[in-house]
Amino acid sequence: MVKQTIQIFARVKPTVRKQQQGIYSIDEDEKLTPNLEIILPRDLADGFVNNKRESYKFKFQKIFDQGASQETIFENIAKPVAESVLAGYNGTIFAYGQTGSGKTFTITGGAERYSDRGIIPRTLSYIFEQLQKDSSTIHTTHISYLEIYNECGYDLLDPRHEASSLEDLPKVTILEDPDQNIHLKNLSLHQAATEEEALNLLFLGDTNRMIAETPMNQASTRSHCIFTIHLSSKEPGSATVRHAKLHLVDLAGSERVAKTGVGGQLLTEAKYINLSLHYLEQVIIALSEKHRAHIPYRNSMMTSVLRDSLGGNCMTTMIATLSLEKRNIDESISTCRFAQRVALIKNEAVLNEEIDPRLMIIRLQKEIQELKDELAIFTGEQRTEALSDAELLQLEKLITSFLDDQDPESRLEVGTDMRKIHHCFHHLKKLLNDKKIHGKSTVSCEIKDQDCQEPLKEEEYKKLRDILQQRDNEINILVNMLKKEKKKAQDALHLSSMDRSECRHSQSLPFPPGNPEGLRTLPSSAPKQIQDVSTFGYRSSLLHRKTGMREEMSLGRQEAFEIFKRDHADSVTIEDNKQILKQRFSEAKALGESINETRSKIGRLKEEITQRHMQQVALGVSENIAMPSMPDLLEEKLRSQLEEEKKRYKTMFTHLKALKVEIEHLQLLMDKAKMKLQKEFEAWWTEEATSLQVNSPAVNSLSHVKPFPQTPEFQQETSQPLFNKSNVNARKILPSPSPIPHSQEHNSTSASLESSVPERPASSVPLTGDSQTDSDILAFIKARQSILQKKWPHGLEKPLGGPSGVCLLASTVPAAGELCSPNK
Ligand code: ADP
Ligand code: MG
Repeated sequence: MVKQTIQIFARVKPTVRKQQQGIYSIDEDEKLTPNLEIILPRDLADGFVNNKRESYKFKFQKIFDQGASQETIFENIAKPVAESVLAGYNGTIFAYGQTGSGKTFTITGGAERYSDRGIIPRTLSYIFEQLQKDSSTIHTTHISYLEIYNECGYDLLDPRHEASSLEDLPKVTILEDPDQNIHLKNLSLHQAATEEEALNLLFLGDTNRMIAETPMNQASTRSHCIFTIHLSSKEPGSATVRHAKLHLVDLAGSERVAKTGVGGQLLTEAKYINLSLHYLEQVIIALSEKHRAHIPYRNSMMTSVLRDSLGGNCMTTMIATLSLEKRNIDESISTCRFAQRVALIKNEAVLNEEIDPRLMIIRLQKEIQELKDELAIFTGEQRTEALSDAELLQLEKLITSFLDDQDPESRLEVGTDMRKIHHCFHHLKKLLNDKKIHGKSTVSCEIKDQDCQEPLKEEEYKKLRDILQQRDNEINILVNMLKKEKKKAQDALHLSSMDRSECRHSQSLPFPPGNPEGLRTLPSSAPKQIQDVSTFGYRSSLLHRKTGMREEMSLGRQEAFEIFKRDHADSVTIEDNKQILKQRFSEAKALGESINETRSKIGRLKEEITQRHMQQVALGVSENIAMPSMPDLLEEKLRSQLEEEKKRYKTMFTHLKALKVEIEHLQLLMDKAKMKLQKEFEAWWTEEATSLQVNSPAVNSLSHVKPFPQTPEFQQETSQPLFNKSNVNARKILPSPSPIPHSQEHNSTSASLESSVPERPASSVPLTGDSQTDSDILAFIKARQSILQKKWPHGLEKPLGGPSGVCLLASTVPAAGELCSPNK
């Protein structure tokens, strides 16, 4: 058992603005625990109650300042936890902090660069690498991905996602067995044999999460996500199995509801988050108090799921993510305070070993067979399951003649077979009960006597019989255990049938026609892994199905999509990644070729060495010398060349493997970015359609038209704490800072949208599929664009990274009605 308090780490997100410096300082003496000091700026301190402190100090295991790389975070925080999970202990890493402080960046990673991979992909990579190295144990890895939103659990890997939206799927619910173990009903477990399969599952879950999110509902900031790696390992031939779970948790934003200043649906959500995180806090407070008997785990789904991680059988680590800017001081302090309480919790991690009942049964059955064989040697006959009819008849005859025999010395001789002896007793009992015989005392005395005459043999039998009986009992118990296990597994894990069907499903999927950048261009003899495109096929066709409406788009929409794409802030990233990907592909290709060359060179060298060797031997034979006395210089040279080549081969192969991982990751990033683009386009298109409807024939301004997605810089400047991801969308629900003139009709539309936001809104407002209308919208967009461009002073065509400038220019632009006049 390992007793350990929860480890707490702090990570400070890079700030955009330089003037934010001086708000905090990190005191890292090597001998002491590092200290984070948050200094309350004068102007802020003044605004509060007089006696407010001016600086706050918090201790952490380690503090990672703005410059810390994802690699450093993994090495320092996640790797030790992954190691203990590999050793058979449970582990949890959770990120806590306000929205925008970098929780998702830390846990999952950034969506732009390969080097931005977060803890999950790096941990998967590390775990699979370690498992591959250890061939003495049999391992299985399963993945589950749970999202908790408004106290409801959703399975992000449910294969039915493709067919339905989140809210239509069965909710994940908690079941507690009599031993108080938690099982999650409707949460699917997926086996992942390789890193690649596991990454695909991560991607699938993230995609499902993104798809479920609508512009109205940036659920990702308000939901908790738990990515779990389940590891089982077993020595070959042993019945003991080790199970360990690693939860990687991206919590909802911890900001307080009072500060967000929102109403309606959002308020409910914010309250819920607060409720959920509030219960987490309560559990943590209860755990940090000594002698507290009751810990309120059951109050919320998240604390139930993470019960073991909090004060239980787990090695737990918390990362406090901090966005240390002036306006976030309050939240940052409260995050640090939370961390300090968490640091008081002691966990007790134990090795999770259990006996696999199936393996135990097999072992016991083997033992029984051995005992039977032993018995057969002892009795001289092989034992069958039951006595044959002829044997039974024979026994009954013997009993009858024995009973009929008047000789007091007569014996009932049935041999040493316990089954026969038992049968005789049964038969006698039956006869007695039937009152067909009398003088039972004589009979029993007789039998007793008989027993005493063969005490030794009987004792031997008894022993064997007892062992058999005991084994039978054990088997019964184990069979029951097995049944229970099976039932538990069925309930909690949604059973493997789903896995299998998923698997079958994925196997039957065709390769996509235009596979991203064509892996097939690699040299045909390049190492096998590189050529394995099946999972790409799965992923791409999934993506295709998820977004897949491109070819169903009308021409008008396609053109608008091109415009949208061109001006979208992400298109630069996509292009960059495409370039990097191309580069990596050609690198891989070149490397594959070099590897092939090296391989044939190695072959040639080996051949040369053999030939040379043979020549030498032949020479020796012809000159009658047993062994050449001098070492053959040429052969040695060849050998050292061979070693060199082998080394080169190994290095290149490792490099190629790393390239493969990078390529896969980049492809995932690109897929994701493309999907995001498509989604945002849909939302934007819908809005354009709405505004066209609302504004035709003539309305006074374009100002209600929502801008394009903004560049990151612009976002950073204007984002609200809760909505930093897309204040475009947030503005729909938030009261706008500067009221926008709406037509009466438009107001009512937006009002009804707000009030009818479902519990988990389905994807955006239905799009118009009518290509006639589509071309109207396109005309509207184009017209507006050309006007905007005319209005810009030269060289300032896209001042804010694209059409996001639309909003600012609104008052200078003609009415929308004018723009969409016929034939414009
Ligand atoms: P959260 O999940 O806490 O709401 P995110 O992880 O989404 O926050 O981070 C918000 C934004 O800040 C994202 O655009 C993310 O890429 C960026 N970000 C966060 N942390 C870092 C970091 N350490 N380095 C660079 N960018 C970061
Ligand atoms: Mg997040």
